[in-house]
Amino acid sequence: MSEDMPKKRKSRGRRKGKGGAGRARTVVCSNCGALVPRDKAKKTTRYHSLVERTLAKELEQSGALIRGQRRTRYFCISCAIHFGVVKVGRRR
Ligand SMILES: [Zn+2]
Repeated sequence: MSEDMPKKRKSRGRRKGKGGAGRARTVVCSNCGALVPRDKAKKTTRYHSLVERTLAKELEQSGALIRGQRRTRYFCISCAIHFGVVKVGRRR
């Protein structure tokens, strides 16, 4: 990439260094099935319980700790924006 070329983001939307780390392994987007480089995809981990929500609340109040099942998903950028994982134009 040439010096005077404007950059939209410092990282160019990836988790690679300045020189690049070669080709990243790909993951499949959980929503649309697109193949996305792993360092570009947005990873979300959510816990959703196997018990009903109202029942889970009651159990939690009585002191039980229920974690539910962990579900890890990868999203391509389009789907990440659609599901609100990332927002358009937000800088970090
Ligand atoms: Zn997608």
